[in-house]
Amino acid sequence: EPRGSRDDTKDKKPSSSHAAQKEPMYELADSSDPGEATPEALEDEVWNQRVKTALKSLDKGVDQAAAKQILNEIVIHGDEVHWDDIAGLEVAKLALKEAVVYPFLRPDLFRGLREPARGMLLFGPPGTGKTMLARAVATESKSTFFSISASSLTSKYLGESEKLVRALFQLAKALAPSIIFIDEIDSLLSTRSGSGEHEATRRIKTEFLIQWSALQRAAAGKETKNADAAGDPSRVLVLAATNLPWAIDEAARRRFVRRQYIPLPDGPVRVVQLKNLLGQQKHTLTERDMRQLEVLTEDFSGSDITALAKDAAMGPLRSLGESLLHMRMEDIRPIMLEDFKASLKSIRPSVSKEGLQEYEDWARHFGERA
Ligand code: ADP
Repeated sequence: EPRGSRDDTKDKKPSSSHAAQKEPMYELADSSDPGEATPEALEDEVWNQRVKTALKSLDKGVDQAAAKQILNEIVIHGDEVHWDDIAGLEVAKLALKEAVVYPFLRPDLFRGLREPARGMLLFGPPGTGKTMLARAVATESKSTFFSISASSLTSKYLGESEKLVRALFQLAKALAPSIIFIDEIDSLLSTRSGSGEHEATRRIKTEFLIQWSALQRAAAGKETKNADAAGDPSRVLVLAATNLPWAIDEAARRRFVRRQYIPLPDGPVRVVQLKNLLGQQKHTLTERDMRQLEVLTEDFSGSDITALAKDAAMGPLRSLGESLLHMRMEDIRPIMLEDFKASLKSIRPSVSKEGLQEYEDWARHFGERA
């Protein structure tokens, strides 16, 4: 296998898990190995230098341990998602290009009246590609991608969360252009967390809103001064995602000037995704079969489709039992429509009709439609 081959990276696109990261290298030790001058190694070297500079440039008040934790656990480096990996969602892609990608690549064109929004909320049913979109934005705008789930702030990191939030925003500025992606934002900005039920959660929420406001003010100030790109607050965007948009309290909701609905895929988009998934596989599915599957997968989300295709792809192996251990690759039968039909017995849409209606209603009142 060649190093960093395309297929190698294709498969490991975990939704919001940070498990498949490269080894952390932020101990400020010089690890450069002159024998290994591959493009990847050079890129890593450039990245390590940027990180060192960023760590040194942080304010005195920023906790270095928290900053390192962010670099190790929250910055996603490598393992990219591109627009074409995402089936459908053309309207959302366009909105994100205009709001983020173009302004990040050409900040000079987006000033004054064209000043971009500093926050965007992606909402919709689970498994529809919100995380993928955020990652594609980071890739396509050549930004540093910070990805954290709000629920981990209020659980896993509880106690150090405020420090972490502060370090997060500081690092994002130092490593700008940056995308701060906050998944499950509802658990941070819900009405409940403001009610004093959980003192610690309330403090994190406050810290988050303070940091975000400061960022917006700094960006507005910088813009008039036409500042250079180093530590640039005008090139940091907060992207947030939620499956529970109605749980976000009103004040917090209004801070997201842009609210983009990410709906379930329609029939043709489901077919595009299925074709992408089957692209590298041996299969017998015809256009007619695809039309059948289009109907059979009504109400499936993108992640339901992926789950279905993965299960169906196991079909040819399942019938073999132990003997698969001695089979040659070319003797394995292709994936067929029947495999999909068998998998459809157990793999069902994860969002109910009623559930879907709630998203539609919320989108009508508070969102932009995709
Ligand atoms: P969300 O953040 O909306 O819950 P994700 O972006 O994490 O959903 O998607 C979960 C998985 O579902 C992805 O890793 C991918 O396999 C699949 N998926 C979801 N939406 C799409 C899409 N529009 N195109 C291709 N794959 C998708």
